[in-house]
Amino acid sequence: MGLSKFKKGDMVKIISGKDKGKTGKVLKTIPDKDRLVIEKINLIKKHKRPDQKSKGGILEKEGSVHVSQVGLLCGKCNTAVRIRNKKLEDGNKVRICAKCGDVINVG
Ligand SMILES: [Zn+2]
Repeated sequence: MGLSKFKKGDMVKIISGKDKGKTGKVLKTIPDKDRLVIEKINLIKKHKRPDQKSKGGILEKEGSVHVSQVGLLCGKCNTAVRIRNKKLEDGNKVRICAKCGDVINVG
């Protein structure tokens, strides 16, 4: 499974790496690199030099996380779960939690 299972606005859980166990909202997907930018995850400190517009200082900005480190969060199971795709009668596709069968809503 690649990046296609994640969408902007999804709630996800980090399943490996230094932010393991944290949850956050997908802010951005980077399809050509299979990476996601997730709210408050993998924060990188950047030193900003003062300029005419601001005083500078340390800024925190989200770095990207590889999709293999991320699982889609099921609100009902309250954990990262495997997802199944289901096609509805009207042709729309929904994502279903493989564990509890609930539809995963897009945040
Ligand atoms: Zn579930």
